[in-house]
Amino acid sequence: MSSILNFFKPTNKNTTSVPNVPIDVDLDKSSVDSPSTKKRKLEIVTSDATDASRNTFPNDIANFCRKNLNDIKKYEVLMHYWIPDIDFKFPTSGKRNWKFQHSWLRSFVWLVYSAAEDGAYCRYCVSFGSNYIGKGGHQNINVLVHTAFRDWKKALEKFREHQTKKYHLDAMEDGQNFKLIYENRKNDVISEIDKGRKMQLLENRQKLIPIIRAILLCGRQGLPLRGHRDQGSLSLKMPEENDGNFRALLRYALDSGDQILANHLNTAGSNATYLSFRIQNEIIDIAGKQITTNIVQRVNRSGCFSVIADG
Ligand SMILES: [Zn+2]
Repeated sequence: MSSILNFFKPTNKNTTSVPNVPIDVDLDKSSVDSPSTKKRKLEIVTSDATDASRNTFPNDIANFCRKNLNDIKKYEVLMHYWIPDIDFKFPTSGKRNWKFQHSWLRSFVWLVYSAAEDGAYCRYCVSFGSNYIGKGGHQNINVLVHTAFRDWKKALEKFREHQTKKYHLDAMEDGQNFKLIYENRKNDVISEIDKGRKMQLLENRQKLIPIIRAILLCGRQGLPLRGHRDQGSLSLKMPEENDGNFRALLRYALDSGDQILANHLNTAGSNATYLSFRIQNEIIDIAGKQITTNIVQRVNRSGCFSVIADG
């Protein structure tokens, strides 16, 4: 467990952070050459120095593809992706010197060009497409999502086709909701992206309450949690050997008519009862951190304080 001293350390100001001010870089809404756009590009290049060594353009979308992205990275892909200047020299290919056209970025708001791969991606599908298509999908589906599109001769045809696909439309919707939520205009990422998942999340939280309550009670009363043969399914029947205070308390709750706990234990798979000692330790650890945080907050709020240690 981390020392209480860690809570008093100054926070690191140099870590990468997302600007509080929402920035919309959709090219259909703003000119590529506008001063505000140039300012954004400067922020983009300086926002992630660690990536600079891997790529000339730190926020080239190729740096984010084929990875499990956290929310910060998803927001970077959607809002802070690298945009070529209007006079950028796109490489040519083929006998007829086909190349990426800057005007396509205006025509297709989801389109992003990668200089690292000289290819095109859909920023929404890169961020959220994996929710709808697997990484091992058909090549035609993977293009623009997991692999770069480079067949410039057929670009318009492919782009028009892509934006009619259901997985793309779903990813766009997820991306739009995510942006609003990330910018604090909505409360909860999951609830807005998928209301069904929100219900599931609330149900799962309810299931944990009697389990957490039993662990906290043991902690407050100084009771050990574990006993003999304290693994496996839990039933109302009294065990032959004492299986510990934690399971005894849960049995008492069941006997007292705790329907949420009863439903949970009746429906959960054997690997998802949340009764194992690993889960117990995890909850104890979380509770310990919460207690430490509360103490530190009270200390910080007070004008002065003293520490009494008892060896
Ligand atoms: Zn897409």
